[in-house]
Amino acid sequence: MAKIAIILALGTEKAKLNVEGEDKFIGKGISYCVTCDAPLFKDKIVAVVGGSNSAATSALLLAEHAKKVYIIYRKEEIRAEKVLVDRLKEKGVEIITNSIVKKAEGDSVLRRIIIEQKGKENVLRIDGLFIEIGYIPSSSLVQNLGLKMENNFVKVNERMETSIQGIFAAGDITTGSAGLRQIVTACAEGAIAAISASKYLKSK
Ligand SMILES: Cc1cc2nc3c(=O)[nH]c(=O)nc-3n(C[C@H](O)[C@H](O)[C@H](O)COP(=O)(O)OP(=O)(O)OC[C@H]3O[C@@H](n4cnc5c(N)ncnc54)[C@H](O)[C@@H]3O)c2cc1C
Repeated sequence: MAKIAIILALGTEKAKLNVEGEDKFIGKGISYCVTCDAPLFKDKIVAVVGGSNSAATSALLLAEHAKKVYIIYRKEEIRAEKVLVDRLKEKGVEIITNSIVKKAEGDSVLRRIIIEQKGKENVLRIDGLFIEIGYIPSSSLVQNLGLKMENNFVKVNERMETSIQGIFAAGDITTGSAGLRQIVTACAEGAIAAISASKYLKSK
């Protein structure tokens, strides 16, 4: 029987808050990609929603550009590693806990968010809102294949091979490129996966 190779390049989707005003201000103050958009908020006031290591590293990157950075987290304490939490303190990032973003408001761009803290609604004036509440788990297609996963990403080695022979993966869906999910890394992984798949097909 002829050999087949499959390259999975399904990407991932960032989880959304699903609150009023979110869709309206995407690209107009609301972003899901700190690496891409942080420099656009030089000397501005921004907030990151989330409490994980991703939220903390995002806030630290933003602190290099913005004049004020908040983290808004729904629980009592953020769950990022202590070393990151210490750095957040050093950089003056303000952590607002027990709070949920209820609404995004503005005119042509985002101007403020309404947050609920212990049953009370407060207004926070910000220019940018970065949503770092995780990725929507990989599609059912990937899960049904029984591939080895790591935090919902397809585990790959440096040749973009997955845990199943003949199946390769590239781009945002993988654990590759040290977790940097950008166009340049997706393209590079795609090229490596293609070469690996070609070698696999030619092998005996
Ligand atoms: C808002 C935003 C802004 C960004 N800005 C930048 C930027 O400025 N610079 C930068 O370098 N990176 C940026 N990124 C990151 C960049 O978009 C990704 O790293 C890159 O697109 C990943 O490529 P990919 O091929 O892995 O996935 P994707 O580009 O997500 O492509 C995956 C494709 O697979 C399709 N698909 C999914 N499931 C199935 C299925 N079951 N069957 C068939 N098709 C399926 C999807 O519809 C999609 O077309 C940004 C990301 C976001 C969310």
